Amino acid sequence: MGLKMALLYGGQSSEHEVSVMSAASVAQAIRGRIEVLPIGISKDGQWIPGLAPESLVERGCFEVSGGHGAAADADRIVQNRNGFLLGYLRETVDLVFPLLHGPMGEDGTVQGLLELAGIPYIGGGVMASAAGMDKEIMKALFKHHGLPVGDYLVFRRHEWEKDRARICTAIEDRLGYPCFVKPANMGSSVGISKAHNRAELEAAFSLALNFDRKVVVEAFLDGYEVECAVLGNEEPRASVPGEIVPGAEFYSYEDKYVKNDSELIIPARLTPEQTAEVQDLAVRAFKAVDCAGMGRVDFFVLKRDGRILVNEINTIPGFTKISMYPKLWAASGVPYPELIERLAELALERFRDRP
Ligand code: ATP
Ligand code: MG
Ligand code: MG
Ligand code: MG
Repeated sequence: MGLKMALLYGGQSSEHEVSVMSAASVAQAIRGRIEVLPIGISKDGQWIPGLAPESLVERGCFEVSGGHGAAADADRIVQNRNGFLLGYLRETVDLVFPLLHGPMGEDGTVQGLLELAGIPYIGGGVMASAAGMDKEIMKALFKHHGLPVGDYLVFRRHEWEKDRARICTAIEDRLGYPCFVKPANMGSSVGISKAHNRAELEAAFSLALNFDRKVVVEAFLDGYEVECAVLGNEEPRASVPGEIVPGAEFYSYEDKYVKNDSELIIPARLTPEQTAEVQDLAVRAFKAVDCAGMGRVDFFVLKRDGRILVNEINTIPGFTKISMYPKLWAASGVPYPELIERLAELALERFRDRP
């Protein structure tokens, strides 16, 4: 295709390490197809052009301030929040792949920067990214569009600090135990706990509040975990659904990226009717947040009655070799390198088609 693409990875969120792994896989997969300019974003927010993600996989992350290793060797053109780099990018690349998970990357912030700079980029726009990252807003949009979601409550830090006993009682009355406590804006299960009693609930709040001032508490959904990948802009397509069998009590960060104990089953063990329903809901969830390019929608199929509930959408899903999004497309006839080329085309298309 003769395209040149900047690959933004790392980033300031707690999902930095996951992003490094995703980027290393992408860089490898599109070698010889799309020319890549890797740009590592350190945990302290500096942008480092020329830093190859493959060189960081062992270490997982990097700090620029220390000034050692690959980061120090890299060509440090500019720092974050410096217009220079964006001007340079606009001159030298056709598009950007912001392969950043979590806040300050998957949440519309970087997308806004690229909008301002007038550079096409892969994935959802500012609003879709922000809405998809914030579990309170995301659920509100899902409900508004008639999508089935589980019961939940939302609290702010100041409410918790003022009257935690009232909050615990409200949760116990409405949701019961066990329940899931999550920072509203995060991913990769970072900061998420399953609370079985009041002591665990309090600990879960403390943990979640380290990551966000807003906490979402959900009723426990006893179901099979199913995920479906969506690809496209105005007329998105759904992949075959896949199933996750967590290796632990739930699909935690450890389980996802450290132990690799979970099992992915593709296609998911669903009836043809359930498969069609998951695919329909996946596309509707994608549209509910007005997403573009890609999205991975996570579901629960309740063990009790087979009812299908939407858990969430991820607007920048994991892209490591073992990640569900590329695997689902591979199983649906779109191999990994072609998938990235398709995403690049969709990004350019979206940019071209805007008024
Ligand atoms: P990612 O973005 O990596 O998919 P996340 O941090 O956005 O993850 P969720 O997908 O909402 O978090 O939840 C992580 C995991 O926790 C789920 O895959 C599931 O195993 C478990 N889980 C979350 N919410 C519930 C719930 N309400 N009932 C039962 N299990 C849950
Ligand atoms: Mg998520
Ligand atoms: Mg995520
Ligand atoms: Mg999830």
